[in-house]
Amino acid sequence: MTKNIALENTTINELKESDKKYFLHPTTSIKQHQANGPSFIFKEGKGIYLTDINGDQYIDAMSSLWNVNIGHGREEIAEAAKEQMSTLAYSSCFQGFSHEPVIRLSEKLASITPGDLNVSFFTSGGSESNDTAFKLIRHYWKLKGEAKRTKIIGVKRGYHGITVGATSATGIDQFQNMATAKAPDFVHATTRFKTNCELGDKSDPDYAGSIRGTIEKEGTETVAAIIVEPVMGAGGLFIPPAGYLQALRKLCDEYGILMIADEVICGFGRTGKMFGVDNWDVVPDVMTVAKGITSAYIQLGAVIITERLRNELAEISPNDVFFHGFTYSGHTTACAIALKNIEIIEREDLVGNAKRMEAELMKGFKYLENNHSIVTKSRAIGLLAGFELLKDREKGVPFDQAIMAAPKVVGECHKRKLIVRPVVFEGSNSIVFAPPLITNKEQVETIINKLSDAISAFERQGH
Ligand code: PLP
Repeated sequence: MTKNIALENTTINELKESDKKYFLHPTTSIKQHQANGPSFIFKEGKGIYLTDINGDQYIDAMSSLWNVNIGHGREEIAEAAKEQMSTLAYSSCFQGFSHEPVIRLSEKLASITPGDLNVSFFTSGGSESNDTAFKLIRHYWKLKGEAKRTKIIGVKRGYHGITVGATSATGIDQFQNMATAKAPDFVHATTRFKTNCELGDKSDPDYAGSIRGTIEKEGTETVAAIIVEPVMGAGGLFIPPAGYLQALRKLCDEYGILMIADEVICGFGRTGKMFGVDNWDVVPDVMTVAKGITSAYIQLGAVIITERLRNELAEISPNDVFFHGFTYSGHTTACAIALKNIEIIEREDLVGNAKRMEAELMKGFKYLENNHSIVTKSRAIGLLAGFELLKDREKGVPFDQAIMAAPKVVGECHKRKLIVRPVVFEGSNSIVFAPPLITNKEQVETIINKLSDAISAFERQGH
């Protein structure tokens, strides 16, 4: 029986109605969406700009979902995709089958990742990469005869994705609640970024909640790995203090625990270095990447492991098949796009530009702090940045949760054609930014001016 659904939409209103009716949006209120429909319908992207169906042009200061690193509308990528699709759009990588784009990309990743992170497994995104890392590491410990090492330790407010394993590693309650129950053997440290605790300072009152304290509580012989974002993104943009990631590396080495760096946001230039861990010269055992690997021109993720780990796996499982593989592991066209994307990042020195623009963003944030008494705690690393809004900055008084300060300011930004992201969390209100790595000084100034106007409009509301 055919359904009576009008597939041809000719007007904006019809499009909105169809969106309301037929599309269940990710991370969106179902009820509000049913009532209000889509907030934007975009039809074109060029550089740092997105144009909606009304012809209005917005600055995409979030690189959409922290992922359009090289900016929108790159013809070169479209050409690379067309060429690859016309030659060999896809072929499988199971059972030892291969193709040149996946080989070249694996080789390229080995050359740009730190240390001996030289061996890649491919996925279609960040969640799949993290789930793969968890399975691979548990498999490793089992083969090593340490089958009790199954626990994965994450941190409160860390975000690692939405598949069952990745949600369980995520330390954000709303995502956990959606899953109703965590998968077994995922544990969270509750204290963020206390370097002294991770180095073993038991006199600190926060010690028990630190990663070290959590490992000791759980039993060192039961812990398989820890997972951290080098810079915490979705949880509210937190940059660790100097020495923190090195302390974690030391801690993992001390207990023989594997370290996973979730580079899904940080990777491919976002923090002013090719990878987030490069800011602190730390080499994890496993690195998970996605987003910036293709700058979102197509879905792709990877799990990059050390050569040592791969060789050990080969030694201890000589005849075993690695029973893990997605249909699209090493998708041919996705790999060709990733190669072109990385070529552009290197050719245009976008990593260097991200570092240079960090200084411009911080200058702008200081201007905002000087001109708006509600702006505080501004921070940036490369083109990953944020600040907090406080009702009384001197006394550290937050806005009432009900005011929804950050979403209101972001609403004012939208009116001024600027897209940024609010993070409301346990009483704190932050605004976060991740503009494309091509953003220049003038564009940073425009972003700051629009922000200043938006904050003034919120201040005039008198909350
Ligand atoms: N890890 C981090 C740090 C992320 O920010 C995200 C997504 O935002 C993920 C993992 C999940 O990636 P994906 O949405 O591609 O599954």
